[in-house]
Amino acid sequence: MNKKSIFSDAMPYLKVSGGLLLVLAIQSNWDSMNIFSGNTGQPAVAQSAAVVSHGGKSLVSGQPGSTATAEKKTADESKMKRIKKAVGNLIDTVKEKSGLGGKISHWGYLKENGPDKWGNLAGTGNSCKTGKAQSPINLVSGQMHKGFEPLFYYKSTDGEILNNGHTLKVIVKPGSFLRVMGKDYQLKQFHFHRMAEHTIDGRRYPMEVHLVHESDQGHIVVVAIMFEDKFQEFNMLVDRIQLPEQAGLKLPITGMKVDPAEMLPPRHSRQYYAYDGSLTTPPCTENVGWIVMKTPVHASLNRINRIGQIMKSNFRPVQPLNGRNVMFSN
Ligand SMILES: [Zn+2]
Repeated sequence: MNKKSIFSDAMPYLKVSGGLLLVLAIQSNWDSMNIFSGNTGQPAVAQSAAVVSHGGKSLVSGQPGSTATAEKKTADESKMKRIKKAVGNLIDTVKEKSGLGGKISHWGYLKENGPDKWGNLAGTGNSCKTGKAQSPINLVSGQMHKGFEPLFYYKSTDGEILNNGHTLKVIVKPGSFLRVMGKDYQLKQFHFHRMAEHTIDGRRYPMEVHLVHESDQGHIVVVAIMFEDKFQEFNMLVDRIQLPEQAGLKLPITGMKVDPAEMLPPRHSRQYYAYDGSLTTPPCTENVGWIVMKTPVHASLNRINRIGQIMKSNFRPVQPLNGRNVMFSN
């Protein structure tokens, strides 16, 4: 096993929970980053991971309603063209870099296009079926204790929220970042999954938020936060943000700043699982570092139900671990 890990070119420091700073021999996989092994392997060379933004990009546009007369139909079609053009200007224009001609529009979460069909999508770089280090997974408590400390340097910025037909995605202005083992990953966007994708000891929470970070080298680290729905508990961010109801709509977030820290568990409750996985949407690109916060946070029942109504169900089932190691901070 000599696969490159997302953190393979990280600084050779690992902060353990006792506060010691140890110099580590860097291996090419988290699996082999054993603090006690005394191994003096060569630092792995940074590799260029495929840069693929997470969360899907395609537009599922609304259908025009049926019309009574040919004349009205023509008028409606003309109107739809104008609307589509306007919407086209609003949608995310980032192209998927891996295969599929920069376009993945035919996958989803329904029976006919759902996760067990993603492996059959055409194009190179589709790891949904062939990948051996896929996400999400079930996380089991009490696994190996490793102690690096992810540091969140999040700040309030303006933002916009996009309904891309697969998820609701909040795009933030630059400035927020995550520091893991001395390496910085800029926060690009976060988005919602209903239900949660990862399970913890077999339990699936009603919602999971993915905060997607990327280093200057294009390495991706996703922080996952579980949400519980509570009748009268509100999340300052999730409960206040505007929700674009139609696929293809992007709205500026007004009347509030976006502070991703408002979704983090309290400082004393930031135990996490960490492992090497993949994007959870096509093309399921691997070499994605995952940090899954163990303690759930809360948003209101009404709000989580509303997000569920807009997105329907958008979670991928858990994938085989295939011998991967999962770290757990205690
Ligand atoms: Zn996601």
